[in-house]
Parts: sequence; C-alpha cells; structure tokens
Amino acid sequence: MLDKTFSAQQRTTMKFTKTLTVMACAAAFLLSTSGAMAESCCVKAKVAGKDCKHPCCVEAHKAGKTCEKCQPEPSCCDKAIAAGKACEHKCCADALKDKKVCEKCNPKKDEKKK
Ligand SMILES: [Zn+2]
Ligand SMILES: [Zn+2]
Ligand SMILES: [Zn+2]
Ligand SMILES: [Zn+2]
Repeated sequence: MLDKTFSAQQRTTMKFTKTLTVMACAAAFLLSTSGAMAESCCVKAKVAGKDCKHPCCVEAHKAGKTCEKCQPEPSCCDKAIAAGKACEHKCCADALKDKKVCEKCNPKKDEKKK
C-alpha cells in the first residue's frame, strides 16, 4: 500500500520535472531561432557542408541567383553561394573553417534598419 502511494508520487514528480525540461527546451529553442535570423538558410547549409534544400533556393541557385524570399538582403556569402562558389572574404573563409557563419558579413537582422 505504502509502496504504491510512493511510486505514484514519484511519477508525478518525474512528470513535473519532464514538463519543466520541455519548457526549458522550448524557451531555449525560441531564443536560438530568434538569434538565428542572422544568417540565411543557405549560408547555414553551406557552413554545415550542405546545400540548402529549400525548393525556392534550389531554383534560384540554378539560375545563379540568390533566393529573394530567403535572402531579401543577400550577404557576400549568399551571393557567392548563388554563384556556386565559396565566399572569398578572409573573414568569411575563416568563419567557414570553424564551421561558423561570418557575423561581420551576415549581421543580425534586428540590428539592421528596415
Ligand atoms: Zn536557402
Ligand atoms: Zn529560399
Ligand atoms: Zn562572405
Ligand atoms: Zn565575412
């Protein structure tokens, strides 16, 4: 009897802890996505050693253009990717080596005036 009560209580505690974890994850996710507005999907894909899979971007790149939808203000890296090259800026090349996006050339959108 006592055992049963205890385990039920424990389960409730575990469930509560899990909910907290999920909430913390969601908050972290929201924070990271708002911060991730800095670079375009294509630059991020490039950094990961991949090509952007967005159909809109694939189409644009086929035509040697930047995707107007995802890159309303294309950075040097966006333009290089569109041309099928790696950006030649030293800062960008160095960032890419570290598997990072060059923050100097791909600034956060929030900091830009519209
Ligand atoms: Zn893209
Ligand atoms: Zn796109
Ligand atoms: Zn660049
Ligand atoms: Zn750069």
